[in-house]
Amino acid sequence: MKLIMLGPPGAGKGTQAQKICNDYNTVQISTGDILRAEVSNGTELGQKAKSYMDKGDLVPDEVILGMMEKKLFGEDAPEGYILDGFPRTVPQAVGLDELFNEHDAELDAIILMEVDREVIIERLTARRTCKNCKKVYNLLFMPPEEDGVCDECGGELIQRDDDKEETVKNRLKVYEEETAPLVDYYSGTGKLERVDSHGTPEEVYENIKEVLESL
Ligand code: AMP
Repeated sequence: MKLIMLGPPGAGKGTQAQKICNDYNTVQISTGDILRAEVSNGTELGQKAKSYMDKGDLVPDEVILGMMEKKLFGEDAPEGYILDGFPRTVPQAVGLDELFNEHDAELDAIILMEVDREVIIERLTARRTCKNCKKVYNLLFMPPEEDGVCDECGGELIQRDDDKEETVKNRLKVYEEETAPLVDYYSGTGKLERVDSHGTPEEVYENIKEVLESL
């Protein structure tokens, strides 16, 4: 199964991708996670990406496409996957289509996670991540047992720099300008599936399962 999770930051793409992976034996490929790992390892790619990420801007398309070609079609590329956070611009989607054509591969569906702006701001500014094991919490609907401490490993919970309110607002603006046009791009393919993403993670997952079972 080859899926794209599409939707604004804070729609729950990563959370839902993890749930799908548990049940459907596939893997999540998150460009945000890959880039954050490159930044913390201080690689050349990470150094290039950091200044864009800190502001909530997009890393240039050619950097992302080069990185994703290796991930999706290089040695050890997985058979099926859920793309989370990619493509994020029309040129990235065109580049991905070209790669699929070259390699005779095909997408199964694009899951569009729809959620209102106010809910996104509330969700993102309440997100916390364990500094150590990277487990994600949300102070609104999945708080840790003890304030500021990871339930799993006891690590410190921190707020991602790009989840601070001003940066969240910029990320939403970037989404509207750069990523929302992908809805039109993909609606012509007959593979775009819209999912109401306002509920709890469990409720949203039920909506997604319905879609996956109809494919
Ligand atoms: P995310 O975790 O998906 O919200 O991504 C965090 C940040 O990484 C974004 O705000 C961008 O700066 C960068 N990023 C992630 N995916 C992409 C992409 N496909 N294209 C450009 N920049 C990206």
